[in-house]
Amino acid sequence: MQFLDMKAPYLELKDKLDAAYLRFMNSGRYVLGPETEEFEKLWAEYCGCRYCVGVSNGLDALCLGLEAGGVSPGDEVIVPANTYIATWLAVSHVGAVPVPVEPEEKSFNIDPAKIEAAITAKTTAIAAVHLFGRPADMEPVMAIAKKHNLFVLEDNAQSQGAFCHGRRTGHLGHAAAFSFYPAKNIGAFGEAGCVTTDDHEIADRVRVLRNYGSRIKYHNELKGYNRRIDDLQAAFLAVKIPYLDEWNARRRNIAERYFAGLSGIPGVRLPEYTPADSVWHQFVIRVENRDAVRESLRLTGIPTMIHYPVPPHLSAAYRELGFRRGDFPLTERLADTFLSLPIGPHMPAADAEEVIAALRAVIAD
Ligand SMILES: *Cc1c(COP(=O)(O)O)cnc(C)c1O
Repeated sequence: MQFLDMKAPYLELKDKLDAAYLRFMNSGRYVLGPETEEFEKLWAEYCGCRYCVGVSNGLDALCLGLEAGGVSPGDEVIVPANTYIATWLAVSHVGAVPVPVEPEEKSFNIDPAKIEAAITAKTTAIAAVHLFGRPADMEPVMAIAKKHNLFVLEDNAQSQGAFCHGRRTGHLGHAAAFSFYPAKNIGAFGEAGCVTTDDHEIADRVRVLRNYGSRIKYHNELKGYNRRIDDLQAAFLAVKIPYLDEWNARRRNIAERYFAGLSGIPGVRLPEYTPADSVWHQFVIRVENRDAVRESLRLTGIPTMIHYPVPPHLSAAYRELGFRRGDFPLTERLADTFLSLPIGPHMPAADAEEVIAALRAVIAD
């Protein structure tokens, strides 16, 4: 069994992807050409946003989103304590300081009730992450942002297609950063990302910054970067967009199987949210004695992962901030007990049943 079948999306859409490749190769337009334009149009429509700007990857999308949103060196940015480290790194890369806030236990996402206590005179933004496919509770986040005049960037690397109060994720903050890393719910066949927004100025700044700070070739208004999206990846993504909702529905079916088959196991906690609340980028359970259970599963051929074993505040990369174990106890407890089970749009139902049986057997042992 595979944790996630990375080749299956290609096999399902082979004819269309191969055709996109041949069209691209024969076009003679390889950088910021018609494929990128088409992808940006389709993805903006899908998210319900006015603008989408394709960029090189998810981390660059976060950096450009923050910079375009006005975050400057020395600023403080509120981030979830419980996230992939990319969210923090983006804040650091624009010269700002990440200020972590604990998650809600029910969603694992940033706890809006704990944000205000972390705001100081230096705070200029909130980076909210929709982790594991489950949208963060954005209404209170936006209300706090409005009250304190803060910029809100969504990190939507993990919840493409999810809804929160009837709007797609990626259309809930002032701007959103997406990753299209191959393992995401919609992934490229290589590196890609984008920024979505309704704000013309932010879209324009990202567009200029991704391309050396120039609007007109060799006329540089800003100290920009080369963070352009790869046109071939844009062409592949455009092929996949119409399938995302169907693929998310298939993930939900696997999640429903897990909820049905895994309830009531002693020492195992299922997510508190229901199948309909998430697009199930990961199916993350909490297990006492996690490492031993994981090893027993591995021995019976069941692959699992841990997202993530080391919270950013305890990682060597953030030693400079001086955090210690105990500073974010809920985040730490989650990191110590989280276990991600296999899930994906091409996972056979029989594999899910095998995971359920194996986990039951391992716990009963
Ligand atoms: C994958 C991911 C990123 C980074 O995306 P890349 O395309 O790999 O740079 C950022 N944030 C979160 C939450 C992610 O899961």
